[in-house]
Amino acid sequence: MKAQIYSSISGSNARQYWLCIFVFGLLLLPLASVSLLLCAGNRFVFHGLLFFTGWFIWTFIEYMAHRFWMHSAKGFSGSGSDSRHQHHHVHPTDIKITSANRYLLGFIGIILILLSAWLNSYFTVFTGLYMGFSGYCFMHFFLHQRWAQYVFKDLQRFHLYHHCKYPNRCFGVSVTWWDKILDTSPPAGASLCQRTIDFFFGVHRRSAKS
Ligand SMILES: [Zn+2]
Ligand SMILES: [Zn+2]
Repeated sequence: MKAQIYSSISGSNARQYWLCIFVFGLLLLPLASVSLLLCAGNRFVFHGLLFFTGWFIWTFIEYMAHRFWMHSAKGFSGSGSDSRHQHHHVHPTDIKITSANRYLLGFIGIILILLSAWLNSYFTVFTGLYMGFSGYCFMHFFLHQRWAQYVFKDLQRFHLYHHCKYPNRCFGVSVTWWDKILDTSPPAGASLCQRTIDFFFGVHRRSAKS
């Protein structure tokens, strides 16, 4: 398992890394341009676009961090594997971010939204970015709940594949579009057996404990 989930930013991976950034730049440019052009227009549209731009940037950071750093043999610290992420792959029900952490993230998010309204400036981009990160923490928790199959079907399917069958694919948690654009979607006709799905939801672990 350990060897399977690793990749590194070198060789062909380095080319893919820069290609991802190039594609992101191509998509961000028109979005940022429209935001700037609407600067003098409707205030709500302007801030809506700034917020979306920040969130959009987050979704890319999330994808890149997961694909090239969390699955890197060097990990975030640069001194060893990203053991927390590796642990989560082996024990999918163990998520380090607690409910208290999520409440705090939500509380800070509300403060930032209020601050953005008061500042009425480009600070809204940061708020969008922060809310993207905050939303990611919530979404990751949601995707490990069975009920999410009714609300976030596609996202949960991608996350299941990433955990259980294709650790080098399906890196998006908040959105699937970067996997689709950057060619890391699951292969056509991919499927999972019930035993694997049960592992993802911790069924075997729970029954072993009881
Ligand atoms: Zn992963
Ligand atoms: Zn997960």
